[in-house]
Amino acid sequence: MDPAKIQTDELAQLVRSIVAGERRLHDLPAELTAEQAAGVRRRAIEALRSSGLEHSGRYSLDAERAASRHCENFIGISQVPLGVAGPLSVRGRMVGPEETLYVPLATTEGALIASVNRGCRAIVEAGGALVRVEDVGMTRAPVFRASGLEQSERFLAWLSDNEQRIREVAEGTSRFLRLADIKTQAIGTSIFVRFRFHSGDAMGMNMATIACDRVVQQLIEPETGVRCVALSGNYCVDKKPSAINFLEGRGKRIHAEVQLGPEILEGCLKTRAEAMIEVQYRKNLIGSIAAGAMGSNAHFANVLAAFFIATGQDVAQVVEGSMGMTTVEPSGEGGVLASIFMPDVPLGVVGGGTALSTQREALALLGAAAEAGKPGAGSLRLAEILGATVLAGEISLMAAFTSGDLAGAHERLGRGNGSS
Ligand code: NAP
Repeated sequence: MDPAKIQTDELAQLVRSIVAGERRLHDLPAELTAEQAAGVRRRAIEALRSSGLEHSGRYSLDAERAASRHCENFIGISQVPLGVAGPLSVRGRMVGPEETLYVPLATTEGALIASVNRGCRAIVEAGGALVRVEDVGMTRAPVFRASGLEQSERFLAWLSDNEQRIREVAEGTSRFLRLADIKTQAIGTSIFVRFRFHSGDAMGMNMATIACDRVVQQLIEPETGVRCVALSGNYCVDKKPSAINFLEGRGKRIHAEVQLGPEILEGCLKTRAEAMIEVQYRKNLIGSIAAGAMGSNAHFANVLAAFFIATGQDVAQVVEGSMGMTTVEPSGEGGVLASIFMPDVPLGVVGGGTALSTQREALALLGAAAEAGKPGAGSLRLAEILGATVLAGEISLMAAFTSGDLAGAHERLGRGNGSS
């Protein structure tokens, strides 16, 4: 049936059948466009809950793509305000200090972007943030069940003897996937096999999962007789904070630093070296240890979440990305060297939510895209910019603590009393 010919009363009948409980939300005729199906669902839910969805139904994104690849039972959009922090200057391997960057951040937290913006100014005045990124790779770790120690031993020996065959099957699933290594851990009758892949410009979680599935189905289970209980054995570790990811890294491992002289500390950040160092020591270090936190930073998660939403990353991976450390130490006359270390940042410029319209615009603003013949360069560039932005957020928030400006800024900007 031609979607254009579907009558209003046919759509109304579909709404009624959902409301009456005769039809489920995902069970709509395939002939409907994604927009028609979303409209039917919205109207049914509005009727069922006596609650309006007017704003959720106004959007400019590609509904067919959103409904088929990103969001089941699609009804519309959830809007998050988007701002920019900048200009920002980065001295990386993929971004040069001659570039003037404006970083898109999507957030509902008033004062966040203003604060990051101030950190960006300090970094620019300091000549840019020095950033280095390691492509650690994306991991996926199925868990297998052996009968006991002897079968575990045979299983591990088989894995080691067959690594090349595993590589061929895994890499055959994608033009961009490369197996980096395999780490194993046997505990009782459970065996965890942590595969680590380089995934070009994609974050790589789907790619790694598909490759693991193929390897398990085609090689490991039939040839060892050992059963895979779950394709993810929580030893990956996806979307959970974990010591293994902190120590070994996952996705991108990011280092960034900036030297802040006394003029920048006092002029731009309204603080002094000793005060910054004390906040670092008592808050980031002692406070985090006392709380048993995984890492010691001021608010990596804030910048990460806003950056991830804006650029189409998987927001749940903020959970692991927010592990990491900030350091501030004396450097030069009255100055400090501030640095961040982020061991576990999964991100990409293709795949996942990066293809959605506003997210593509944000990536284009940052000049972060896949380039033919340079697999992975785009995602490294994005990670460098993220590292500098997180550093900007750290130095600005820590400075705000030293001047007692945190509550005031949130009161002014988060409650609508600031400038627009
Ligand atoms: P993806 O959406 O599966 O897309 C990756 C594909 O992009 C690759 O397979 C590749 O195609 C293609 N591609 C084109 N140019 C590329 C380039 N320059 N570098 C790399 N790939 C390129 O992306 P993904 O990063 O693997 O997965 C991200 C998605 O996984 C997100 O939506 C996330 O929410 C989701 N996710 C999945 C799981 C899971 O368990 N499956 C867990 C967490 C999150 P070819 O293969 O044809 O070469």
